[in-house]
Amino acid sequence: ARVVAVTGSASGIGAAVAAMLRARGDRVIGVDLKDAEVCADLSTAAGRAAAVAAVDDQAGGVLDGIVTCAGLSRAGAPQVSVNYFGTTELVLGLQPALAASSAGRVALVSSISSTQPHDAELVDLCVAGDEEAALARAEELVAGGRPHEIYSSTKAALNRWMRTVAVSSDFAGAGIPVNAIAPGVVLTPMTAELVSDPQWKAIMDRAVPMPLGGYAPPEAIASALLWLISPDNTHMAGQTVFVDGGAQVLTAPPSV
Ligand code: NAD
Repeated sequence: ARVVAVTGSASGIGAAVAAMLRARGDRVIGVDLKDAEVCADLSTAAGRAAAVAAVDDQAGGVLDGIVTCAGLSRAGAPQVSVNYFGTTELVLGLQPALAASSAGRVALVSSISSTQPHDAELVDLCVAGDEEAALARAEELVAGGRPHEIYSSTKAALNRWMRTVAVSSDFAGAGIPVNAIAPGVVLTPMTAELVSDPQWKAIMDRAVPMPLGGYAPPEAIASALLWLISPDNTHMAGQTVFVDGGAQVLTAPPSV
């Protein structure tokens, strides 16, 4: 059995990941605001540090995997703190515990939104690790009528950060594959209101067309995340894999 930390374990994709891991006998250390093994607020540096310490303690210093699902899709600037810093600081903070495992693995949750219009300045500030300036830039986007670019920017920043970290001596060099899944639209509490409002649904279906199978159940994303953190994944590193029903192919220009 493996010991796996799952952020955002109380709802949606994180809850599906936790349930699937437990069903196969693995031990889950869930991290969420409530209803989790570790209750912590990932929107603050103190909450993130407390979460790292508690996970490390509960794992006895040896962690086989981390899946970062905690995220916000609305609520303005705090998305920067939860989506980006709530991911990067947990992964970096738990690197020693992952390195202590014989098969440590990291899987992040990005989004199809990472390929959609975003703010280059906010992306740069996130990747530079400057949370204060990133939050200030996000407030400017809210004031300037571009609040929707915060979410896509945090996810684009995650993809970029992940590519650097994945090939670093601390991760690739320590035998720890780091990758991300980018979902399209997934039926979770995050999207429940959007898909039930015909006007929002139409906007979303234009932005994220999913010819294969329609909206995804959280388990469709969870099973891909589970493969990324399995010992079977020995040679995938630094990839953002789109599990989006084909949306990325239809909406993003080919890179090769
Ligand atoms: P969800 O709202 O069901 O679950 C998110 C979880 O994160 C919740 O349990 C919430 O309590 C937790 N969380 C939020 N703020 C937190 C904080 N400050 N500290 C600790 N935990 C916090 O959403 P979901 O749809 O399961 O989303 C999971 C991930 O998938 C997110 O990163 C989201 O951006 C991403 N995603 C979702 C979709 C979708 O269509 N649902 C699409 C693409 C990407």
